[in-house]
Amino acid sequence: MELRLYDTSSREKRSFVPLDPNNVRMYVCGPTVYDFAHIGNARPVIVFDVLFRLLRHRYGADHVTYVRNITDVDDKINDRAARDYPGLPLNEAIRKVTELTEQQFHDDVDALGCLRPTIEPRATEHIAEMRAIIEKLVAGGFAYVEQDHVLFSPGAMNAANSVLPRYGALANRSLDEMIAGARVDVAPYKRDATDFVLWKPSKPGEPSWPSPAGIAVEGRPGWHIECSAMSWKHLGETFDIHGGGIDLVFPHHENEVAQSCCAFHTARMANVWMHNGFLQVEGEKMSKSLGNFVTIRELLADWPGEVLRLNMLKTHYRSPIDWTLKGLEESAKALDDWYRIAGDVPGGRPADAVIEALCDDLNTPQTIALLHGLRGQAAVGHEDDRATFAGSLRLLGFLSESVAQWDARKQQASGIDAAQVDGLIAARTAARARKDFKESDRIRDELAAMGVVLKDGKGPDGKPVTTWEIAR
Ligand code: AMP
Ligand code: ZN
Repeated sequence: MELRLYDTSSREKRSFVPLDPNNVRMYVCGPTVYDFAHIGNARPVIVFDVLFRLLRHRYGADHVTYVRNITDVDDKINDRAARDYPGLPLNEAIRKVTELTEQQFHDDVDALGCLRPTIEPRATEHIAEMRAIIEKLVAGGFAYVEQDHVLFSPGAMNAANSVLPRYGALANRSLDEMIAGARVDVAPYKRDATDFVLWKPSKPGEPSWPSPAGIAVEGRPGWHIECSAMSWKHLGETFDIHGGGIDLVFPHHENEVAQSCCAFHTARMANVWMHNGFLQVEGEKMSKSLGNFVTIRELLADWPGEVLRLNMLKTHYRSPIDWTLKGLEESAKALDDWYRIAGDVPGGRPADAVIEALCDDLNTPQTIALLHGLRGQAAVGHEDDRATFAGSLRLLGFLSESVAQWDARKQQASGIDAAQVDGLIAARTAARARKDFKESDRIRDELAAMGVVLKDGKGPDGKPVTTWEIAR
């Protein structure tokens, strides 16, 4: 079965053929670690986790290398460190901020059912590679030194007559358009408005490293050079897939391509460029000022991580996604039902139709429609049907827990104390036995107000039994 992926660079779905099927290589831009990640940040993490799982299924778990970096050098990190740890030397404060945030990020995305990437390189551990690339760019005439900065020149890249791609090809923009669009207020160390920073001097007290290209003062890297350095180190000069959110196409990815291709004299940095669409909340752009900014951590307090995962995958990754409470409620209901049917079934082979839908540019809405069908068969069919259903769910990263764990998590997320509920149910049963229906109705209402729905039935011995579940 052919795997087809939409490539931002060629603007079409293309058949995916790895450079080396024994080592399929994917790079995804990771978080800048200074604060809790928001639910929009979770989108690329979940989407590329599904692709990672599909690639592992196709090529073998040991034949896929997934690199997702951690950006641990950035102005936002410095500002946060100075604010949160005013008593500490800045570099120590920065280490505290980045370590804590990295831990929070891992806890959050683990809860979303995402596998850890094969390698998670940190920017500050790849300064030598960044310097080496910058030296190559200066030597090749693609970059220049000015006022202790190193700048990359897209104009020089496009003037070079060689295998190089055109600067602007990924984002489908012309250099003239970019010059026209550049701010009037161009930094004094830039020869052209479109030139971008590879290296800059550090302010006193800020993190700093010995500079490349003969610059005497210490400095720090620009943002774009990080990813060129880390992907080179761990995946080579050219690799298979590069991913991130759609906002990264320009300038971040355009600049990554420029740096890597000019440094290594290659026509491509990655064969396929994949970008997820944006997430908005209840029809509006998510922002702190609108008050609809929501972190993964806040959502995890109310919903199991797999509910957030399913809710994310209901929309195709390239479409914008509208994150709503209604959507979450529906996802929770579907997942609860799936756990009841397949939660404790060992996973079999996933359904061929599921693989086929995923191989069509990760068509997860189609996949989820198929899951509803498989669920129907599993509910009435044989053990095989349940195994196929469970295997399909597991391929997508669901059913990571037993049904008992799932129930416990739902209860925990709802804030309902199971022992208290059991106590109230016992009191209601006693009231009913003595025909005090006023009291039994009162207890039922009290439980309903807590979000607990009662179901009265009969046990195997014919005696009345009351079970309960959480209303959503
Ligand atoms: P940032 O921390 O802003 O660099 O973002 C980390 C990743 O999350 C990048 O791949 C972004 O493209 C992605 N991202 C940020 N905001 C959103 C959003 N609202 N919807 C989808 N992806 C987003
Ligand atoms: Zn990047």
